[in-house]
Amino acid sequence: MPVSGLAPYDDANIFARILRGEIPNRTVYEDEWVLAFHDINPQAPTHVLVIPKGKYVSFADFSTKASEAEIAGMIRAVGKVAQMLGLEEPGYRLLANLGEHGGQEVPHFHVHIFGGRPLGRMVMPA
Ligand code: 5GP
Repeated sequence: MPVSGLAPYDDANIFARILRGEIPNRTVYEDEWVLAFHDINPQAPTHVLVIPKGKYVSFADFSTKASEAEIAGMIRAVGKVAQMLGLEEPGYRLLANLGEHGGQEVPHFHVHIFGGRPLGRMVMPA
C-alpha cells in the first residue's frame, strides 16, 4: 500500500529495522551517511536501494530537513554505488517514489538504482 510522503517518521518501518540490524540485507555499500543494499524484489538485473541513515520519510522530508552534509553524503553515495556496480557505462536509472501517486511503499527516503539492461525511455509501468 502506498504511504504518505509527509507522514511523521515511523521507527517501525522496514528500512529503519534494516538500519538497526533487526532484518538482514545484502549490503553493497555503507558509510557514515548511507546504507546501500539489494532490493528484495528486483525489477532489473541490478536493483539497489540507497537510504540515508537519518530519519527522513521521503524526498520532500529529506530535501527540506537534512543537513548539507547529509544531502551531499547521500548524493555522492548514490553516484559511488552506481560506479562501484559498473553501471556508469552503459548507464542506469535513478528513481525516488514519493507518496501515494509516486507509489512509495516504504516510508523511509530511498533512491532506487536500476541497471543491467536497457530500461526504455520512461519510468517502470505499474
Ligand atoms: P518504494 O515503492 O517505497 O519506492 O520501494 C520500496 C522497495 O523496497 C521495493 O522495491 C521493495 O521490493 C523493497 N523492499 C521492501 N521490503 C524490503 C526488505 O525487507 N528488504 C529489501 N532488501 N528490500 C525491500
